[in-house]
Parts: sequence; structure tokens; C-alpha cells
Amino acid sequence: MKEFDLIRRHFTQAPGDPDVILGVGDDAALLRVPPGHELVVSVDTLIRGVHFPAQTPPSAVGHKALAVNLSDLAAMGAMPRWITLALTLPDQDPDWLGAFARGLLDLARQHGVELVGGDTTRGPLSITVQIMGVAPVGAALRRRGARPGDRIMVTGTPGDAALALQRMLAGQALDPDDPLRRRLDRPTPRVAAGLALRGLASACIDISDGLCQDLGHVLTASGVGATLRTSDLPLSAAFLAHMPAEGIDWSLPLAGGDDYELLFTVPPERVPRVHERLAGTGCPVTEIGEIEAESGLRVLDPAGDRLSLDRGGYDHFQIAESS
Ligand code: ADP
Ligand code: MG
Repeated sequence: MKEFDLIRRHFTQAPGDPDVILGVGDDAALLRVPPGHELVVSVDTLIRGVHFPAQTPPSAVGHKALAVNLSDLAAMGAMPRWITLALTLPDQDPDWLGAFARGLLDLARQHGVELVGGDTTRGPLSITVQIMGVAPVGAALRRRGARPGDRIMVTGTPGDAALALQRMLAGQALDPDDPLRRRLDRPTPRVAAGLALRGLASACIDISDGLCQDLGHVLTASGVGATLRTSDLPLSAAFLAHMPAEGIDWSLPLAGGDDYELLFTVPPERVPRVHERLAGTGCPVTEIGEIEAESGLRVLDPAGDRLSLDRGGYDHFQIAESS
């Protein structure tokens, strides 16, 4: 396809990674996993209108397509290294493609990630990025491993992206530079934080489908329960500025998707080292609850009363399907 010539032009990177034995241009890429490391692989697809609003600028789509994948590797405590890109494009639109490529490549450069191959086809717009990274043998962070007494911690300020999406779906135009809109369109993957948590976190996940739902995955995988305190949830100034005087819509930080923050558990004696190490990466982190032996998730409102959330899910909170 002609598009691929364009992509090649936009995506051509100076060869610098000695572990890329063969990159774009052959039938497959050849990559070297450094000795003593494991290959960490994940893939995510973005569909217009499902995973991002149709009006999202193409550079933001490129950024997000990579960011969601970087976030998965961050949650594993892995160092991202390489990506492949499967693009399905509806029509020829060199401007769209150029901006998309810039958005994706800028973020790739920031993380030292190299595009090593892909596939280009015609059809309804869909973007699939496969990411590959490495972690020392046995060091990757997993969802299982949380133990009663462990503290639950979260990076950043959950709820911002869900609030932006809620406002846009309600027809409110948010400027692309609005801080909430930026959190939806251009999430910051917590790669350095994930790396810093190796050897400290007992379990880790990234929040893509909502804090409670993703915490639920950790609880299930670890065979434990938890209590969360809404009063400790870190909310951004931009978020709070939008909340009505009647109170905070807790469904946004608890069940809204698209945050791409890390949620992790850590034994209490390691909490000071988590603060120390994450301060070194510039990533804000907050303790929001505790792991318990009793199964299930208990969420306390600021008065200390149980917030009622549907058993088995938080569908009535669901703002948009995302995966
Ligand atoms: P094949 O028919 O062997 O699959 P393609 O024509 O699909 O070959 O691709 C040729 C080369 O270009 C391959 O190295 C492939 O990895 C690369 N490529 C194709 N599309 C993309 C893309 N969207 N991004 C990056 N590399 C791509
Ligand atoms: Mg192909």
C-alpha cells in the first residue's frame, strides 16, 4: 500500500538498538533478548468510537495507541523495547497519517522504543500495537501476590479521563489543551514507576477499566479482599473544580476507565521505600487502602460508611466500554 511508504518515511528511526538484528523491511524482525532476561509481550487494539472519541486529533490517537501498551508493560515492571504496528486505514489521508505517526513516534522516542515491523491494510480505522519488553528473570510484577496487611497504592489522580469523556459525551466541548482532556487523549504511561516498583510491589496492575474493577483482578488473582477509603483517593485540582457543591461523583475515580495509572500492593514495611523510589521518578503516589483476608472489596465513603457498589461489577457506573 502507498500508505506504508508514508509510514516508512515518518517512522524511519536511526538504527541505534544493538538488540535489533533486523527491523522493518524483511518478512519478520529479529530481536535479541539480553541474557538473564525474559521477553514481556502485550497487544492492544484501538477502534475509533469505542476506545477513543471520533473527534480525537490523530496525533493523540498515535500517542494513545502506544501509551496504552506502554502502560501494560509498566504494570509488569518491564522495560519496553520494541513495537509492531498493525494499521487498518479507511482511506488515503496523508495528513492524518503524518500526525498519527508523529504522536506515536514522539512517545516511542521518549521511551527508547523502536518500531520493528507491522502490517498495513484497508478497512474501518483500527490500530493495533504489539509491544515487547524485557525484565530480569523472575522480576516481572504480577496481579497475584497481594497479602493481607499489604497497603494499596495508586499513582497519579484517577478519574480525570473518565470525567473528560463524560463531559464530551454530554456534548460539552473540551479544549484539546484542557488538563482533563489531555489525560483522556494523551495518558502518561508510568513506565519509570513500574521499573522502580520491581522488588517492592507484591502485585501490580494498570487501571484501564476502572480502579475497582482492576483492583478486583488483583484480589481474585491473589485470593484476598480489600478495603478502600474514598477520603484518601487523590483527586486532581482540575477534577475537583468540576465537581458540584453537592459532592464528589465517586463513580468517576472508582469506576471510570482510561486512567492508565498503576495500582499496586506493598507490604507496610516497604511503603517508605516506595515513596523514596517513586519520588525519584517524579511520579505521585498515594496510599488508598489495605488488603485483607476476607474476600470482596469494601469501599468506605468519607464518613466511613460502606459505599454500595453492585456485587459482581460496577455496570451502573460504567461510562464507556474499554478494554
Ligand atoms: P509481508 O507481505 O511479508 O507481510 P508487508 O508488505 O506487509 O510484508 O510488509 C513489509 C515490511 O514492512 C515488513 O517488514 C513489515 O514488518 C513492514 N510493515 C508493514 N506495515 C507496517 C506498519 N504499519 N508499521 C511498521 N512496519 C510495517
Ligand atoms: Mg504484511
